[in-house]
Order: sequence, then C-alpha cells, then structure tokens
Amino acid sequence: MADLSGRITLVTGASRGIGYAAAKALADAGSHVIAIARTQGGLEDLDDAITSSGGSCTLVPMDLRDFDAIDRLGAVIAERYGKLDGLLSNAGVLGDITPAPHVTPKDWMRLVDVNITAPYRLIRSFDPLLRASDAGRAVFVTTSVAQTPRAYWGGYAATKAGMEAFVSIYAQETEITPLKVNLLNPGGVRTAMRAKAMPGEDPSHLPDPADVAPLIVDMLSPSWDTTDQRVNFRETPHYKG
Ligand code: NAP
Repeated sequence: MADLSGRITLVTGASRGIGYAAAKALADAGSHVIAIARTQGGLEDLDDAITSSGGSCTLVPMDLRDFDAIDRLGAVIAERYGKLDGLLSNAGVLGDITPAPHVTPKDWMRLVDVNITAPYRLIRSFDPLLRASDAGRAVFVTTSVAQTPRAYWGGYAATKAGMEAFVSIYAQETEITPLKVNLLNPGGVRTAMRAKAMPGEDPSHLPDPADVAPLIVDMLSPSWDTTDQRVNFRETPHYKG
C-alpha cells in the first residue's frame, strides 16, 4: 500500500459506499482525510473507524449543492494547509430510472447540481491548492453509462458524460504540471446506489466498496504518473472477479 503520510486528501460522498471505503483506506495509508457528505451519522462512523485505526480526519458535514460553501472550504484549507494533495470527487446521485420525457425538472436539477456542477466547483475552488502540492492528484468517479448510454438512465448518464468531458479538458490543461487528473469507472459495486438502480439484483456477486478502495489510493498517490485516463476498475489487477 502507498505511504500517504503528511498528505491531505479530500473525499466527497464519504458517509457511505465507495467514498466511505476510500476515505478509510486513504487514512490507513497515512493521509489526513477531509470527509464531506450530508449525513452526520455516516461521517461520525467514518471518524470512529479512522481514529480507532490510528488515522486522522476532519469531518465536513455539508451539501455539495451549497456551491459557495465549497469556496469557503477552499479558503479554510488554503489557510490551514496551504495545499491539497488529493481530491476524490465521488459524491453522486442516480435520480429516477425513467423514460427521458418523465425526468422531473426537480430531479434533473439535482442531477446537474451534484453530478456536474459540484465537480466543476471543486475544480474551481481547489485547483490552486492541488497545484501547490508537489504531486497533486484528482480522481473523479464516473460510470459506464456516461459512454454507453442506456434507456431510462438519461439524467444520470447525461450529467456524468458532461462531467467526464469537463474533467478530461481540465486534465489536458494541466498536462504540463505535476498535477494528474483522472476518471475512475468502478463498474457495479455493492452500495445503496446500486441497490436503487438494480432492485432485483443479487448483490452478493458484486465487489464490495472496500475492493475498489486500494485502486483509489493508488490513483491518489504521488506514484500514479498518468493523466487524462479513464480507469475501469474491472480491467485492473485490483479486481478479483
Ligand atoms: P452511495 O452509496 O449512494 O453514496 C453516495 C455518496 O454521495 C454518499 O456519501 C452521499 O452522502 C453523497 N452525496 C450525495 N448527494 C450529496 C450532496 N448533495 N452533498 C454531499 N454529498 C452527497 O453511492 P456509491 O455507489 O458509493 O457511489 C459513489 C460514486 O460511484 C457515485 O459518483 C456513483 O455515480 C459512482 N458509481 C457507482 C456505481 C455502483 O455500482 N455503486 C457504479 C458506477 C458509478 P449523503 O447522502 O450523506 O450526503
């Protein structure tokens, strides 16, 4: 496992699922973790898990739709640490699986806010801090349907596809810096979101979030040396099938 001692990593969607497991693994690797989500209880469980293994984290209970709060957090991190070594933009929403004309305006705006505007605002607020790190690493969690659109998944697929385009452009623009910016497609993973998407599925054959976490640690480590890549978890040695 990579040694992330002395490094600061921010994880969105850290209250459960993939973000929770990634935050725990990052702390186990030595990073201080700044953990964002709305659910205080999930964040407190994470804090207990991290501190009982000797790690450290800062809980930030907030709604990523509060975009100005993202800017305020950037200012606090700048003042306190002067840098950000890792950004895991993982928080996401699925919305309703429904025919395109049936997507409600309210659901659409929530999908846009969380899946594409929040990642853009994270980039906007944290870019100077990531560049201030000796080896800034940013990973954005995406989905298969962003590139292979599937009937009834319109809002989710469209917002993730837009996020992918923006992130790839950011990766190209930072190519000559030490910063590495990549996308991660975890594929199906045993989480609350997957259960909502596939209610009839037997989840026992799916990877656990903890199976994906070591790949995320690798992608947020100084030794990860590629940028503008779209990594499919199931095509990596971390996937045990
Ligand atoms: P999950 O269990 O539903 O967790 C989603 C996380 O996002 C939660 O921690 C949630 O925290 C956070 N979140 C949602 N809305 C938020 C908001 N407005 N403000 C702050 N945090 C918010 O989902 P998951 O399966 O772990 O998904 C993680 C990522 O993987 C997502 O981007 C998803 O699209 C992607 N993904 C998942 C799968 C899969 O099979 N699981 C497959 C492909 C891609 P709170 O509710 O506490 O705020």
